[in-house]
Amino acid sequence: MPENKYVRALFPGSFDPITNGHLDVIRRASVMFDEVIVAVGDSPKKEYLFTGQERLEMIHELVADMPEVKEVRFVGLTVECAQREKAQVILRGLRNLADVQYEFQLALTNRAIGGIETVFIMTGEKYGFTTSTLIREVGRYGGDVSGLVPPNVFERLKEKLSAEKGL
Ligand code: ADP
Repeated sequence: MPENKYVRALFPGSFDPITNGHLDVIRRASVMFDEVIVAVGDSPKKEYLFTGQERLEMIHELVADMPEVKEVRFVGLTVECAQREKAQVILRGLRNLADVQYEFQLALTNRAIGGIETVFIMTGEKYGFTTSTLIREVGRYGGDVSGLVPPNVFERLKEKLSAEKGL
């Protein structure tokens, strides 16, 4: 890449909710790219615990001290979001071999339909087992997930899950 090239990376995901693993990827990426755009996806086919706005707000609070990181919401194709945001690369995190298989397909599809490359950052070893899905499930059954998510997310998770129980 030319020395003076300004590179924006789009980090798309559900972030339902954002975890310490996601944050680790964002921190590593923020020293590699000029800008990192965390793109919170809303798929009509998915059921989320947190609304798009809530997922965005939690990220906003966490990246407030990282000037090179911003957050956006998007619906539809990741490649179109990347084009809108003028991102040259898509960024994704990898935890294990199962991720590689899925991410490989996704990266090839995005290159085929959008002509955009995907770059991968390996998770910090500590976060290899952290998934938003498990955090939601363990949290629902009263397990302690305080070490897996940032404090602001932990607080919102407690509120959300107790509101859910009250239904
Ligand atoms: P999606 O529904 O698009 O998979 P996620 O929010 O689950 O959205 O994940 C977004 C990205 O973050 C994916 O590339 C995923 O592999 C990565 N990721 C999730 N958890 C971790 C983690 N603990 N360490 C590194 N990367 C992670």
